[in-house]
Amino acid sequence: MSKVASIEKIAAGDNSTLAFDVERVRADFPILRQEVYGRPLVYLDSAASAQKPRQVIDAMSQAYETTYANVHRGVHWMSQKTTDAFEAGREKVAGFLNAGSADEIVFTRNATEAFNLMASSFSRANLGSGDEVVISAMEHHANIVPWQMVRDRLGIVLRIAPIDDAGNFLLDEFEALLGPRTKLVALTHVSNALGTVVPVKQVIEKAHARNIPVLLDGCQATPHFAVDVRALDVDFYIFTGHKVYGPSGIGVLYGKSEHLNALPPYQGGGDMISSVTFEKSTFKAPPHRFEAGTPPIVEVIGLGAAIDYLGALGQDNIAAHEAGLRAYAEERLARVPNVRLVGTAREKASIVSFVMDNAHPHDIGTIVDRAGIAVRTGHHCTQPLMDRLGVAATARASLGLYNTRGEVDSLATALESVSEIFG
Ligand SMILES: *Cc1c(COP(=O)(O)O)cnc(C)c1O
Repeated sequence: MSKVASIEKIAAGDNSTLAFDVERVRADFPILRQEVYGRPLVYLDSAASAQKPRQVIDAMSQAYETTYANVHRGVHWMSQKTTDAFEAGREKVAGFLNAGSADEIVFTRNATEAFNLMASSFSRANLGSGDEVVISAMEHHANIVPWQMVRDRLGIVLRIAPIDDAGNFLLDEFEALLGPRTKLVALTHVSNALGTVVPVKQVIEKAHARNIPVLLDGCQATPHFAVDVRALDVDFYIFTGHKVYGPSGIGVLYGKSEHLNALPPYQGGGDMISSVTFEKSTFKAPPHRFEAGTPPIVEVIGLGAAIDYLGALGQDNIAAHEAGLRAYAEERLARVPNVRLVGTAREKASIVSFVMDNAHPHDIGTIVDRAGIAVRTGHHCTQPLMDRLGVAATARASLGLYNTRGEVDSLATALESVSEIFG
C-alpha cells in the first residue's frame, strides 16, 4: 500500500492498516489498561509527558537487575557492560536525529537543563552587551527565562518573532529582526500550546545567509515526526526523553561538532575533566565536557529503547496516524457548542488547544477528568503566548501514537456536557 493510500485509509476511520495497528500499539502500554473513576482511562496529555511502552520499562528494569554500575569509571565487568549500553544509547540518539557523530550528542537531565547549558556556555563564548538573540512569541518558558537571565547579566537584547492570530509563524517579520548584532536564533520547532509547526528550514536558511547559528526546541517535534538535523543544517537541537515515550530525567542537546568544541563547560565536577590539580583543571572534549558527575545512566538506556520502539513502528506511520486523528479531533470538537479552537495554523502537529464560552479551562479539565479523560489546562508554560492571543489559559488535548477516534469521541461527549452545564 502506498503511503498516501494508507493515510487516506486511516483518515477514513480504519486504524488497522498493515503499517499501524493502534490496538496492537496500545497493548504495549500497560498504564493505558486501567480505569479511573470507573471509566476507561483516556490519556490526552502526551504533550506534557507521554506514557511508556513495556519495551522501555523492561529495558530499564533489566539494566537495574543485571549489569547496573557506574559508567566511565570501573575496569570491572559490570561497569564496562553499563558503559557500553550507555554509549550505545548515545549512538541511538545520534541515529534518531541523523547526527554526523555520537560525539555531537550531550545528555542533560531534561530539555530545560539543555537550554540552561546553552544560555550559560553560549553566552560566555559569544555574547556581550548589546548583542541580540531572536526567540518567538510561541516559546516555552524553558527557551525564554534562561535568556532573560543572560540579558540581566550581560545586557543582551531579546527580540521576539511574531505570529498571527491563528498561530502561524511570520517568516518575513522574523527576517526583518535579523541584524548585525544578532548572535543566535533560538526557536521552537513545534509549539507545545498550539501545535504550530514552524517553517524551520526557511528560518535556518535566512539565519545562515547572515552567518547566524540556529538553536531549535524539538520537544514537541520529536514525538510526532522524524527530524534530520543534517538535512535541516541546524546548529543546535534540544529534545526531552519523557515526551518521546522514554523516561523522565533525560534531555538531549545536539550540537554540530565545530560549535560544541568552541563552547566552555557548563558545570564542573567529575567525568568532565582530563586532569585536575589545585592550580588548574583541563577539560575533556565534547560531549563529556558538558556531562559533569554521574549521568542519568538507566534513563539513557530507556531512551535508547524508546527510540528503537519509534523506529520499529515507523515514524512516518506514527505521523500519518496522528494526522488523521488530529483532523478528526479538530472537526469533532469544533462541532461542540461553545468550543473555540485556539491555534489553527496551516501546519500543525497533533495538539488541539481550545477554550469554551463561560467555562474556565480549569473547570473543563475537572469535569472531563471525572469522565476518566486527562487533558492539560492552564498556560502550558507559555504565558507570553497566552497574552498574545488574549486568553488566560486553554484546555489542550494532545494526541499521541496510542490515541484513537473513540477517545476523541469520549472527549467530545464530555465537552458537550460541559457546554450544557455552563450554557
Ligand atoms: C516540555 C517542553 C520543554 C521542557 O521540557 P522538560 O523536559 O520539562 O525540561 C521545553 N520546550 C517545549 C516546547 C516543551 O514542550
